[in-house]
Amino acid sequence: MASLPQRGVGGFHLIMVLSMGSQTKMSGDEKLEMMRHSASHVMAEAVQSIFPDVKFGIGPAIRDGFYYDFDLPRSLTPDDLPLIEAKMREIIAADEPFMRREVSREEARRIFASQPYKLELIDEIPDERVSVYQQGAFVDMCRGPHVNSTGEVKAFKLLSVAGAYWRGDEQKPMLQRIYGVAFDTEEALSEYLGRVEEAARRDHRKLGRELDLFSISDEAGPGLVLWHPKGAVVRLVIEDFWKEEHIKRGYDIVYTPHLAKRDLWQTSGHWELYRDYLYSPMEIEGQEYIIKPMNCPGHILIYKSRLRSYQELPLRYAELGTVYRYERSGVMFGLARVRGFTQDDAHIFCTFDQLEDEVVGVLDLARFMMDSFGFTSYQVLLSTRPEKYAGSLDVWEKATEVLSQALARLEIAYDIDPGEGVFYGPKIDIKVEDALGRGWQGPTIQVDFNLPQRFNVTYVGQDGKEHLVAMVHRTVLGSMERFLASLLEHYGGAFPAWLAPVQVIIIPVADRHLEYARQLGAELQGEGVRARVDARSETVNLKIRQAQLDKIPYMLVVGDKEVAGNTVSVRLRSGEKSSQPWASFKENVRLVINSRAQDLSL
Ligand SMILES: [Zn+2]
Ligand SMILES: [Zn+2]
Repeated sequence: MASLPQRGVGGFHLIMVLSMGSQTKMSGDEKLEMMRHSASHVMAEAVQSIFPDVKFGIGPAIRDGFYYDFDLPRSLTPDDLPLIEAKMREIIAADEPFMRREVSREEARRIFASQPYKLELIDEIPDERVSVYQQGAFVDMCRGPHVNSTGEVKAFKLLSVAGAYWRGDEQKPMLQRIYGVAFDTEEALSEYLGRVEEAARRDHRKLGRELDLFSISDEAGPGLVLWHPKGAVVRLVIEDFWKEEHIKRGYDIVYTPHLAKRDLWQTSGHWELYRDYLYSPMEIEGQEYIIKPMNCPGHILIYKSRLRSYQELPLRYAELGTVYRYERSGVMFGLARVRGFTQDDAHIFCTFDQLEDEVVGVLDLARFMMDSFGFTSYQVLLSTRPEKYAGSLDVWEKATEVLSQALARLEIAYDIDPGEGVFYGPKIDIKVEDALGRGWQGPTIQVDFNLPQRFNVTYVGQDGKEHLVAMVHRTVLGSMERFLASLLEHYGGAFPAWLAPVQVIIIPVADRHLEYARQLGAELQGEGVRARVDARSETVNLKIRQAQLDKIPYMLVVGDKEVAGNTVSVRLRSGEKSSQPWASFKENVRLVINSRAQDLSL
């Protein structure tokens, strides 16, 4: 049942949760957050001076910056942002003090009489007295704290405007949200903006289009991915590697159907617990079926297809299982959030005594996989028992101990996420960091006390009696879709040779070199290297340029000299050049590919 995505909560923050302007010392982060939140008040004042009829939503600090929601007489365009920024600079230069006062609810209702959203919030505040802050001509209802005066708002920039439903509710009015960022210094701001630019350059949706890897078509529907040949071959390489490695580590590969009777999902509890994520049932011969949101029940049925003895355990069933889950169209995002995706799923059935070794095995595999794909830094979280839980306290404690013991055995540093386990068992989450330092959801290992009970998944023990199995859900890559997104952004589309859709492109200088080029291409293909010949009648420079745009690791330019000497002129994606005998290039490129090297040097 592992890893159903969390629904977004719609970004409703009434007021900041920081303690009120007390004398206690604030950390640097808290100060920055206070400054960012103050910047949102400054922005609100600026917007009010331009649009006197504005109705205000809320304006919290967020990671790296702030936003404020406005109800305005017209739609904002990106051209409005510099005008608002200019106004904000004036307000900052005027160094207006942030003045706090406490008023009664009645008084607050008078102050905000023309502000329907604020009135709605006042009605919900339990306290009799409400704090209001004023700077210049702008009054806001807010718990604070703020900086002393607008002059303390430092380096900032407004980034974008987006629609945002009031309180994240689609039934409520759509407001306009302006996002900004703010930092202590101009250097920190420009460093941040540089990172944003780099992230945009690496956006997997953009790279996916430019490199012709995948598309999502309105005609097929949102969140349903069409894998083009070049994307499909990357996926195939990942899947083959994945299967091979799993077989080496004692997993059995299985396949399960994409549809199953609704009753099965009732037994598993998905029908009841995750109804919102399931697609409507379809009727087949008077029986309701649903398209699978998870692979677990299928694997359980394989396990249960006959009586199991303790001597067979552990059993590890692995499947690249395609599942479908409902996501609202508004939350879909490239390959990172979709409606249909293929999980690299596996379920381990073992005795409780075997659990620690099994978790160690999964952690070791996860680490090997992350290393192979060039993710070298990650953060490990152990999530413990939440308030509501299935199973006994005793079993929870033992299982949590098993997970931390396994982490200790491999000397993996981790943090505890108290109470963040799923109700059916503790889990380990690994967040991998990409080249830009952004976190991606990586491997998860989840112990489950619930499904073995629901399905009565047992084995016959040494004592001749039936015992419930210990069950583990785990993925190491997550899903093929999201994993490709993370790889694309991690490498900026420049895959290491073993993953590149086209590994070698051969560029003949003139038509008379075409035959030699084709011969080399055929030899490479015969050895399993993904080689192409660029036979178009274009200039060499243009073909090199194209190969660079396609981020092909190796370009071989062949002309008279190469044909005569049976050599190739090699040009790496980085621009590095060399001349090599054909036989040694062929040998070296195979070595780089087979070793899954990150580096292209031959
Ligand atoms: Zn405030
Ligand atoms: Zn599962």
